[in-house]
Amino acid sequence: MTLHIPFDNSYATLPDTFYARVKPEPVKAPSLIAINDGLARDLGIDGLDDPNLAALFSGNAIPDGASPLAQLYAGHQFGQYNPQLGDGRAILLGETIGTDGLRRDIQLKGSGRTPFSRMGDGRAWLGPVLREYVVSEAMHALGVPTTRALAAVRTGEVVVRERPLPGAVLTRVAQSHLRVGTFQVFAARGDIKALQTLFDYAVARHYPDATDPAAFLDAVMRRQADLVAQWMSIGFIHGVMNTDNCSISGETIDYGPCAFMDSYHPETVYSSIDRYGRYSYSAQADIIVWNMAQLATALLQLMPDPEASLEPFTAKIHSMPDMIRTEWLKRFAAKIGIAEPTPEDATLIAELLTLMQTADADFTNTFRGLTDGTARDQFSDPAGFDDWSGKWQARIAGEDGAEERMNAANPVLIPRNHQIEAMIAASVEGDDTYFHRLMLAYAAPYDANPDFVDLRSPPTPDEVVQATFCGT
Ligand code: AMP
Ligand code: MG
Repeated sequence: MTLHIPFDNSYATLPDTFYARVKPEPVKAPSLIAINDGLARDLGIDGLDDPNLAALFSGNAIPDGASPLAQLYAGHQFGQYNPQLGDGRAILLGETIGTDGLRRDIQLKGSGRTPFSRMGDGRAWLGPVLREYVVSEAMHALGVPTTRALAAVRTGEVVVRERPLPGAVLTRVAQSHLRVGTFQVFAARGDIKALQTLFDYAVARHYPDATDPAAFLDAVMRRQADLVAQWMSIGFIHGVMNTDNCSISGETIDYGPCAFMDSYHPETVYSSIDRYGRYSYSAQADIIVWNMAQLATALLQLMPDPEASLEPFTAKIHSMPDMIRTEWLKRFAAKIGIAEPTPEDATLIAELLTLMQTADADFTNTFRGLTDGTARDQFSDPAGFDDWSGKWQARIAGEDGAEERMNAANPVLIPRNHQIEAMIAASVEGDDTYFHRLMLAYAAPYDANPDFVDLRSPPTPDEVVQATFCGT
């Protein structure tokens, strides 16, 4: 059979100031690493037995119905505004409407140079491609809104980074690739007509109930507040929350130097480029407000009297920390079995986190250990934990279904950084069995599957990964 993707492209009908029409650059010897059958089915794609998949998902062949283009956007990178970014190594093939009725982008990443490549080579190496594949699919299985991975292909070419490395292309699927930075680029240029067109497009695609910019801002803020609370509840650190990596749809996007925390510390940073901890674990709750303020600044220009709207927009942004606190409390309360948290429960959770921080307790294993009785083992001096546990048990004595609630909120498995690094090292040597095993394990992260007991362990001292590098 031949691959059939039921394209229904809308971005390509927007004005040509929104993108550059450009085709992927062919690669030397594409070979398929993985294809995500389940996702393909959900997208209405068939013909997965096509012998040409490697060519199609590397950009060597363009599937029928695609309208390849590179999207324009700008963004604040580590607080600094960059007036033009855009898809420098990615190409949108087009969109499909899935079996759930939702429109999704299909994008090749690592597909060669575009007019937005600046100094870059437009390529990706195997490491970040497999990291994004595994972590984004794990996030999906964990229940977190995220872009997905449809395919990964080796290019058969060498990409030069700190050293020569094997090249690869990822096929990414997203509810859209609209970013805060997509709004910023037109706002900064004062192109109000384009900004209005973008706004109308984003409303129709993501927030049909939001009839004006204020309601739209509110809707994006809500999704982002929930998203960041979810990240924090599973110990996820995005690592590079620039406004160009902040999705309008509220999905996690751009798995660069991301990582999951092993032992709990609120200031944990892994990203090698985040020297001042701007995007540390706990800073994520503040930075998302900053990012939403940038979106608000852009949206203000759509108001009939931006000056007059400044105050209500500012008030909205100021309401976001509370929104995040509420989501955070809901998520963390569930982790200790509580359905309807009270303000005092925030103190109970904070006390546990402080004990964990002092003890270097493993974040994932401590929370899951609350139901399987192993949490106490995380504390070398368990007296403090025993004290806390007494209070906690008194609190949840009357909670119905506490254990089920906890097991649904506390994963057994997270994609631990040392596992990801070991998987990448194996695949660089040409052995993808590690990758396929991780994919299998992380597909059911809340199940205590005895086959994957080894993946529950935090790294040994010599396995600890100190820094993760971004995808470039
Ligand atoms: P990121 O750090 O992945 O969010 O990328 C930031 C910007 O750099 C985006 O405009 C990317 O398209 C661009 N970029 C990243 N890597 C490359 C590359 N290898 N070649 C060209 N552009 C790149
Ligand atoms: Mg990016």
